[in-house]
Amino acid sequence: MKLSCCEIVQRSVYTLQMMLRHWVCVRSVYHISPATHRITELDPLSLVDQGVQVLALDFDGVLASDGTPFPSPKVQQWLDHCVRQLGTERVFILSNKPRPERISWFKEQYPGLRFISGVRKKPYPDGLQAIQQCTQVPFQAILLVDDRLLTGVLAACIAQTQALHIRTPYVELSKHPVKESFFMLLRGIEKVLFFF
Ligand SMILES: [Mg+2]
Repeated sequence: MKLSCCEIVQRSVYTLQMMLRHWVCVRSVYHISPATHRITELDPLSLVDQGVQVLALDFDGVLASDGTPFPSPKVQQWLDHCVRQLGTERVFILSNKPRPERISWFKEQYPGLRFISGVRKKPYPDGLQAIQQCTQVPFQAILLVDDRLLTGVLAACIAQTQALHIRTPYVELSKHPVKESFFMLLRGIEKVLFFF
């Protein structure tokens, strides 16, 4: 889903407004949530103990480096474990890049796991609201795992779901030097913004 110039401006203005409104929430996710560097460090069973009923996973940076069509074998192992513990119907992929090859890969490898598409990109809360409608669990029982503070974490604060920030996203600088450098810069700016 390519965004027009007008949509990019609208989304940027929305991000700015919501950032100011939900500053404390985003900052507390960044500072208070346990320092999770990789998704593979997450224990799905401990999430259940914390009241998480539904897991929404970002793709780029969280499951694989930006632009990669599917997760690495190590992340696939973790996903296998995750869907065994939670059930495929309780795991969603919520990416701002729901590319057809990614959707069909998940459909083939994890039947029943849903890849959210056709909604406005994070930080709009539309994807999380769609997940809540599908599952009918309270918003507070949904956990979004994301590596971006001003897209995923902000969307979670707006939708009032739980959020977990991935501190060390997957990056392949040698494959996509320009794109990855740009996202590293964005993540760096976000961290500085919410550090204070
Ligand atoms: Mg990401």
